Amino acid sequence: MVVFTPVSSPMMRFAETFAKNVGGAETNVAIGLARLGHNVGWISKLGTDEFGTYILNTVRGEGIDVSQVKRDPDFPTGLYFKEIRNPEDIRVSYYRKGSAASTIQTNDINEDYLKNAKYLHVTGITPALSDFAYQTVIKMMELARKHKVKVVFDPNLRRKLWSEEKARTILTEMVALSDIVLPGIEEADFLFQETDMAPAADQFLARGCETVIIKLGEKGAYLQTKNESGYIEGFPVKQVVDPVGAGDGFVAGFLSGMLNDLSLTDAVRRANAIGAMQTQVKGDYEGLPDNEELHQFMFQQNNVDV
Ligand code: ATP
Repeated sequence: MVVFTPVSSPMMRFAETFAKNVGGAETNVAIGLARLGHNVGWISKLGTDEFGTYILNTVRGEGIDVSQVKRDPDFPTGLYFKEIRNPEDIRVSYYRKGSAASTIQTNDINEDYLKNAKYLHVTGITPALSDFAYQTVIKMMELARKHKVKVVFDPNLRRKLWSEEKARTILTEMVALSDIVLPGIEEADFLFQETDMAPAADQFLARGCETVIIKLGEKGAYLQTKNESGYIEGFPVKQVVDPVGAGDGFVAGFLSGMLNDLSLTDAVRRANAIGAMQTQVKGDYEGLPDNEELHQFMFQQNNVDV
C-alpha cells in the first residue's frame, strides 16, 4: 500500500499536508532482508495507477525481485493513512477494499518460482483482504510445504479487516500450515486465550509448527521448539519514535539470521536488535538497517555482534 502520514498536524482532521511512503508488513520484511544482502522476491498485485508504479519502483529500488508482481488496470492500488497522535496512540485508516492486491488469485502464483525459495513469508493480513486472497495464501503455503520450502508466518492480526471469529479460524488454519510462527503476545492470547509463554507456545507447537517465537515489545522475545525454550532479552532504546514496523523488522532480522546459519537464539537476538532499531525512526521500514548499521548497533548496545 501507499501510506500517508499527516505532516502539518498530527491529527488527520487538521492536517493539510501528508508525507507519502510505501507501507505493508510483507514489503517491510522484504526490504529488511534485502538491505541485509539477501535475495528476496515479493509476490503481489498492484494497480496500473501512479501509486502502483510508485510502489513497484520503491520495492525494486530496494533490490527486491518484482518479477512476480502483477498489475491490474481494473482495480486501484491500496492506501492507508497513519495518524501518529503519540507513540502510544497510532490510528490507522485503510482504503484498501477492492484494491488490486485483494484480487490476487491462485492462478497468479508461479509454482516454479516458489519452489526455488528457502523460505516463504506470509502474514495473516492477506487472507483478510478477500476470499480470493485467502485461497491464494493457503495455496502458497501448501505449495511451499510440498517443495520443502519453510513457511514463516506472522499472524499480524488486523481487527479492522475481519470479524474475530473468522480471523481466529483462518489464522489457526495458517498456524497448522507453518514451520515457524512469530506472533505477538496479544495474538497468542487472541488465538489460544493464553498469556503465559510456555503454555501459549505449546498451543502453537501442538498444531504442527516446529518453532514459535513470541514477540514481547521492549522485553524482547520468547523462543520455543520441541527441544529448547527461553527468553531472549531485547535491546534497550531511549525513546520510541514510531513502533509500527518493529514486528516486521524483527521477522526480517530473524530470517536473516537463519539464512546466515546462526543458532535460533542468535537469530532472535538479531531480530530483537532490528525491532529495536526500527522503533527509533519514523516510518514503516525506513529504520531497517544494512549490515554495517546492524553490527554497529549490536556492538554498541551489548558488546555482542551476531
Ligand atoms: P508491530 O506493531 O510491528 O506489529 P509486534 O506487536 O508484532 O509489532 P512488538 O513486540 O511490538 O511486535 O515488537 C517486535 C520486536 O521489536 C520486539 O520483540 C522487540 O525485539 C523489538 N521492540 C519493540 N518495541 C521495542 C522497544 N520499545 N524497545 C526495544 N525493542 C523493542
